Amino acid sequence: MPEHILSGIKAIVAMKLRRKGLIQREIAKIIKSDRSIVSHYLSGRYPKEKILNVAKIIEEIPPKYGAKLIHSLTDDKELAKSLIKELYGIKLLWDENSCIACGSCLVCVALTLDDFTINIDENACCLCASCIFRCPTNSLKFVRENYD
Ligand code: SF4
Ligand code: SF4
Repeated sequence: MPEHILSGIKAIVAMKLRRKGLIQREIAKIIKSDRSIVSHYLSGRYPKEKILNVAKIIEEIPPKYGAKLIHSLTDDKELAKSLIKELYGIKLLWDENSCIACGSCLVCVALTLDDFTINIDENACCLCASCIFRCPTNSLKFVRENYD
């Protein structure tokens, strides 16, 4: 069943990428699927409507929960990151005003603390949301990509 849910999420992401103008080969690379499967996703032949509906519900939940869920569906962190990024259009943001420099988030290699400033290495971050749940002051958040 989890693999089926992942198919539903891949199908939604494939359609989003298509609307952005990407061709099937590019979409296949991002969602790590065969081009023939991408073709099925785009035509609506696969997966079943029931699976797509589950994926649509996942798309509507807060991204921090959706990210956890998607990572639980695959061991491939790069794939999970791509799906989360495209499904929710988010990035991780740190709020300097509320951070108390407690260091609880520093178990992740993507985060470093330097002179009371948390630096986020976006390449190393797989959008797993663990730091968001660790932070006692809600200083780490997923925000929409076009956030200022
Ligand atoms: S979202 Fe995950 S990978 Fe990214 S900085 Fe937080 S704990 Fe690290
Ligand atoms: S866990 Fe939160 S409060 Fe603590 S250092 Fe990290 S961002 Fe700051």
